[in-house]
Amino acid sequence: MSSFAESKRKPGSEWLKNRPRLLEGIYAGSKSALQLLYPVLKRILPARWMDGIFVWSEEVSKGYLFNCQMCGQCILHSTGMTCPMNCPKNLRNGPCGGVRQNGHCEVIPEMPCVWVQAWQRDAQMGRYRGEIQLLQPPVNRSLQNSSAWLNLLEGVDAQQPSGWSTIELE
Ligand code: SF4
Repeated sequence: MSSFAESKRKPGSEWLKNRPRLLEGIYAGSKSALQLLYPVLKRILPARWMDGIFVWSEEVSKGYLFNCQMCGQCILHSTGMTCPMNCPKNLRNGPCGGVRQNGHCEVIPEMPCVWVQAWQRDAQMGRYRGEIQLLQPPVNRSLQNSSAWLNLLEGVDAQQPSGWSTIELE
């Protein structure tokens, strides 16, 4: 049996993951609430505290729900509320060409392919349905273990690291 995190599903989390419409509603509500509260929180909480609180709460809540790998650039709403970082190849645009006939992963045979699940769940979504077709940039590893919510609120997750800019060909 693999020790890979996604193959160790936590009680109840799979039931919730199979309800992407409910989860996207929670996501959208949390995003609106945080956008409203963030300027106030920023004024009253020291940056170090804010960082610690957000990182801890994401590790606990998203860790339970999505086997979140703390990439710091959450795209759950664009991947059927299924964490793409659980794909052993860490694909941000998937699936790869190796999905088994039973829909399981080629690397971890006992695990359903993350991307097959993502596409199936995306089709059940409401407001974010179809976002799975957006081409995602490579994951920025320098954001690993930071808070995805804070990165979103500060716009950090949308910035491209220097060196990633497109080279103009003559
Ligand atoms: S089969 Fe699916 S989960 Fe496995 S490596 Fe390929 S895309 Fe990732």
